[in-house]
Amino acid sequence: MDLPRPLSPEPSHAGDLIVARPEGLYCPPGDFYIDPWRPVERAVITHAHSDHARFGHAHYLCAEPGRGVLLARLPGIDLNTLPYGKRIRHHGVTLSLHPAGHVLGSAQVRIEYGGQVWVASGDYKLEADGTCDPFEPVPCDTFITESTFGLPIYRWPPQAALMAEIFHWWQANAQAGRASIVYAYTFGKAQRILHGLLRHAGADGMAGPVIVHGALTTLNAAYAEAGVALPPMALASELPPRSPLLRQALVVAPPSAQRSPWLRRFGDASDAFASGWMQLRGTRRRRGVDRGFALSDHADWPGLLSAIEGTGAGRIIVTHGNVPVMVRYLNERGWQAQAFETEYGDDDESARNEAQSADTEEKPDAGNEEPAP
Ligand SMILES: [Zn+2]
Ligand SMILES: [Zn+2]
Repeated sequence: MDLPRPLSPEPSHAGDLIVARPEGLYCPPGDFYIDPWRPVERAVITHAHSDHARFGHAHYLCAEPGRGVLLARLPGIDLNTLPYGKRIRHHGVTLSLHPAGHVLGSAQVRIEYGGQVWVASGDYKLEADGTCDPFEPVPCDTFITESTFGLPIYRWPPQAALMAEIFHWWQANAQAGRASIVYAYTFGKAQRILHGLLRHAGADGMAGPVIVHGALTTLNAAYAEAGVALPPMALASELPPRSPLLRQALVVAPPSAQRSPWLRRFGDASDAFASGWMQLRGTRRRRGVDRGFALSDHADWPGLLSAIEGTGAGRIIVTHGNVPVMVRYLNERGWQAQAFETEYGDDDESARNEAQSADTEEKPDAGNEEPAP
């Protein structure tokens, strides 16, 4: 959504524990960055989405449950991890990581120094989804928040209702002999759908086979390794080309697979897109899919406000999304709110960028590595 950006970032106050620098969000007393977008010496990573976790830093720190997914995205980095809630001291700064409920391993960064507490939350959502530790409100003086869906129109249905909706769409298609293809971001959203459907229907209650695109293999394995229950899954290449089972299947694929030759084997299928943007009128049509499921890994409008209120913070800094709207709203209601200029995008936007560079065809050899059940 293109809204004007009238807010030039305010100059930071002396003694601020986090400031915006060209490299990223910086903690001056601790001499480290949070989710920096340019190469730095020390990077604390809130989560492994590509706009928050990038190659090129000398040292990385993330929450312990995020180790597998971060290494899957950025193999070979110099990574230390910290269990949620454990406090460490660095240059006199007390640092701890707390669940953000966004994706596996996502964390809010709590920083305490000189009698002040700041929390940088990265991306977050409030509803627990079973694929990661649920969001924990962390009391602080200054709260740094995203605002991806920071408009009053965004209100998510409960996740259980969305899973039921996806399941019944799949079931109706399977009965009609039509595959159901759902496009979802490869990290977070895809595993949430797989886990959510398993919870909804049980392993024996599936409407047909679950087929995943090869692009999901590594991340599915990282989730399974972390103890997240996923249903039995197969790669498309594991089924005979004309198998009637293909037309009963739920197919989970990255957005980049849309209109790729990989889809041909499923014949005349029904397709859907899972994203918070689906709540916006016209998005489904522009995506060219039959159905849209408003499933988001970000807080909706009431969620953002309740998270902000829950911290008890008097000062709020908004990093990305609908920044001007949120800053104005908060300032009008007595908060001291401002913006930070950042290079964080929204995760679906990253998916779209991935789509442009990704080889959408599943490679025959990549199919041999079987996803963990
Ligand atoms: Zn994210
Ligand atoms: Zn983000």
